[in-house]
Amino acid sequence: MTTETLEFQVEARQLLQLMIHSVYSNKDVFLRELVSNASDALDKLRLEKLRDDSLDADVSDLHIEIDVDKDARTLTVRDNGIGMSYDEVGQLIGTIANSGTATFLKELREAQDAADAEGLIGQFGVGFYSGFMVADEVTLVTRRAGESQGTRWTSRGESTYTLEKVDDAPQGTSVTLHLKPADPENQLHDYTSPWTIKQIVKRYSDFITWPIRMVPEKGDSEDAPEPETLNSMKALWARSRDEVSDDEYHELYKHISHDWREPLETIRLQAEGTFEYQALLFVPSHAPHDLFTRDFKRGVQLYVKRVFIMDDCEALLPPYLRFVKGVVDAQDLSLNVSREILQQDRHIRMMQRRLTKKVLSTIKEIKTKDADRYATFWREFGTVLKEGLVTDSENRDAILAVASFATTHAEDEPTTLAQYVERMKDGQDDIYYITGESRQSIENSPHMEAFRDKGIEVLLLTDAVDEVWVDAVGEYEGKKLRSVAKGEIDLDGEKDEKAEGEREKQAEDYAGLLGWMREQLEEDIKEVRLSSRLTVSPACVVSDAHDLTPALENMYRAMGQ
Ligand code: ADP
Ligand code: MG
Repeated sequence: MTTETLEFQVEARQLLQLMIHSVYSNKDVFLRELVSNASDALDKLRLEKLRDDSLDADVSDLHIEIDVDKDARTLTVRDNGIGMSYDEVGQLIGTIANSGTATFLKELREAQDAADAEGLIGQFGVGFYSGFMVADEVTLVTRRAGESQGTRWTSRGESTYTLEKVDDAPQGTSVTLHLKPADPENQLHDYTSPWTIKQIVKRYSDFITWPIRMVPEKGDSEDAPEPETLNSMKALWARSRDEVSDDEYHELYKHISHDWREPLETIRLQAEGTFEYQALLFVPSHAPHDLFTRDFKRGVQLYVKRVFIMDDCEALLPPYLRFVKGVVDAQDLSLNVSREILQQDRHIRMMQRRLTKKVLSTIKEIKTKDADRYATFWREFGTVLKEGLVTDSENRDAILAVASFATTHAEDEPTTLAQYVERMKDGQDDIYYITGESRQSIENSPHMEAFRDKGIEVLLLTDAVDEVWVDAVGEYEGKKLRSVAKGEIDLDGEKDEKAEGEREKQAEDYAGLLGWMREQLEEDIKEVRLSSRLTVSPACVVSDAHDLTPALENMYRAMGQ
């Protein structure tokens, strides 16, 4: 058999160096990562077999096995799941495809000190490579279900790894860690101790729906003792609230989201009746880096009667809730259900409506109960939630109820529309806003002068989506949403007839000048008007009430429209 020696991709190498010299104090999590991968591999195999019965694979006893050898100082995590082909091992283990990881590495290079670095490692999952926190050599042997040839991958975490074809590999994957020398100071983290392993599995992987078995130590007795199953395997979403600790929910979140941080909120829903399902959803505490990219994987995991069916099931939540992670387990769907079928299914649409309302009402609850947590939520996900104001008219009010906006009223305290309306002055009929790229640029815009002068509050909207939703929503509680930069704005009210007369006279006086200006600027403008909105600047450019604003023009242009 030939052995190929290959180079790790640059990012992969950086990540490995980081793991080897890890300052991350919680090294136990390597086991969670290996078990998580094994569990995914078992899910994938069960599904593939379900879809294609002719697949030559044994699915009779799908499980995960942990095997420690005190003398050799090795720990092996084994699964009989989908496995990987020779090419897949090179692709999946030798490179890093995840865009979040690239960002992570960049931030890490910029990290000032060890504490910063530790914080970063805690935030980004590093998956398979985390084994190098505790091992100085890792060997992976795998055979893809349905194939006859297996592959052995080995690396010491330096710049290269080796690949080799093997003939006798069992179906699935086994990862063997050659553990670093024991640390006598730290008995609690002795990974050759079955007791330690049991604790870690209980702590991080109890909810895994496949049995995680501990291979019994050899030589204790004549008959091989029964392997012990370490996890309870109970689907957390099917258990009642008081049976499950917050920690357990959070570990499930980390498993499905590949985020190492705690979620901001856990949402449970149990629907009974003709179409029964359970949902366990999570609002993360940080927006992922690729939330606004086209290939962001949106949606939650779909299970049917405890069987994993698909990741990123987009039919279950609307696009503006794409940051929500979690599991939905439906009782009455076919195991063969496809994405296409889901998009059209009436029950799924009802489920989506219900889940959407549940998420929005939970956000509202956070908002009333916990100002800090709400502020975090809105900072991370406000921009994406506002898309719902445009696309989901049914829930528009519910979204507006939890939306807040920067305002001239207070420097660093955003306002809701309801609070704005409460503060409106006598005689003010409309809600005023200004849009632009940054708070600073719009606060100093000439359009703001008269408003500042008269002490009228203006909302400061700086997201591209703001341009769109203000038009889509149009008004709030009978008050029109009006841009201070669009159309004619009469801040003195119509009642003032004397002023009205004066303005007409002024218009006559200046007719000549205005006409001349119009001629000079003909190519670029529609009209020149006298205005009462400026107090300091001599002139400003405004759009027609129905024109696109410059920022929106840019946005559409960038989209190629
Ligand atoms: P992630 O799990 O976030 O994708 P990992 O670094 O943990 O990242 O794993 C990288 C990839 O390697 C996985 O996505 C999977 O395709 C493959 N892989 C890892 N472990 C296994 C396994 N036990 N069985 C099959 N494939 C695996
Ligand atoms: Mg993983």
